[in-house]
Amino acid sequence: MKLLNVPLGERAYNIHIECGILDCAGELCRTVLPGASRLAVVTDSNVGPLYGERLHTALEAAGFTVMVFTVPAGEQSKCIEQLGSLYEDFMAFGLTRSDAVVALGGGVVGDLAGFAAATILRGVDFIQIPTTLLAQVDSSVGGKVAIDLAAGKNLAGAFWQPKLVLMDPECLTTLSDRIFCDGMAEVIKYGCIADAEFFRKLTQWGGRTGVMKHIEEVLYTCCAIKAKVVAEDERDTGARMILNFGHTLGHAYELAYHYETYTHGQAVAAGMVAVLRITSSATANAEALLTAVRNVLRLYDLPEEIPCGMEDYAAAIGLDKKGTGDPITLIGLESLGTCRMIRMQKAELLQMVSAL
Ligand code: NAD
Repeated sequence: MKLLNVPLGERAYNIHIECGILDCAGELCRTVLPGASRLAVVTDSNVGPLYGERLHTALEAAGFTVMVFTVPAGEQSKCIEQLGSLYEDFMAFGLTRSDAVVALGGGVVGDLAGFAAATILRGVDFIQIPTTLLAQVDSSVGGKVAIDLAAGKNLAGAFWQPKLVLMDPECLTTLSDRIFCDGMAEVIKYGCIADAEFFRKLTQWGGRTGVMKHIEEVLYTCCAIKAKVVAEDERDTGARMILNFGHTLGHAYELAYHYETYTHGQAVAAGMVAVLRITSSATANAEALLTAVRNVLRLYDLPEEIPCGMEDYAAAIGLDKKGTGDPITLIGLESLGTCRMIRMQKAELLQMVSAL
């Protein structure tokens, strides 16, 4: 069992990491929601049948009146229509300002349920129970909640910190290899930007089976790094930027394939390699660094490169046709475990990418 605190003053909260913690969710929720009577659990059509009943039973045992609301699995559920129907469902359920919303699922459910919690009745308490590796190491910590608009991803959202995050590593056993490895890209990213020793362990563990033997340590290490960064920069105005390592160019790969062919993690993996290549002339031991990152990505079935046109790179970094615009901050590595911010003109970045 591992316990971590996200130190955000009056919005501070705990992250509990433990196999089987789903069955203790009732008592743990009760400690942070002493006056709540109703809990609206939001899940998706894959996660609900796997873990919904267990969570329902555990929450009811602590005296809550519980209703589970299930949205279709997939990114398309992070939309205004699903948000609207959750609002109506919550009201029909009788949710009041002293009650809470619980997200049981991956990042999609966490973002959607969290935004519903942030906005219904001008904000009710929120609990995260993330069930994908990506949600456990990334999206459930930090308080960013959002839905997608036709104009782009995550464009309507809020900062709404959870009261509690419960991570049951056993939930990860039902993930496909593709979804598990998708989350591994973020895990590898944490090693790259903040913890060389952890990075070396990811290489030694050699793949999913090895990582699962150390999963509580993996979740704790990643969440501790994210919690520290979030505590420094709760509303994403500076320090959080380091979490974007691999994401700027990764975004181009997601755009180029309309978010379909490659997962977010696969795009981030190729984005990490691309940024290391374009910054290699300014990095000591650049070749060794690149080799280490390529090797670890291969162990987790993550791509080292994704073909992409210049127009997609330009769109991803927000470079207009005139080649003007504000400078961009690219996250590179000083060495394994230490990152650096590189400020440059967008046109300059595009030129470097074109030489890859
Ligand atoms: P997801 O929620 O779509 O889950 C991926 C798939 O796994 C889904 O089909 C889901 O039903 C299934 N699934 C979830 N848990 C399972 C389990 N235990 N067993 C079997 N199947 C399971 O995707 P995701 O990768 O978890 O999250 C991606 C979303 O997170 C994106 O919308 C992204 O924008 C968001 N995100 C948010 C933040 C943030 O800070 N808020 C950070 C990163 C990503």
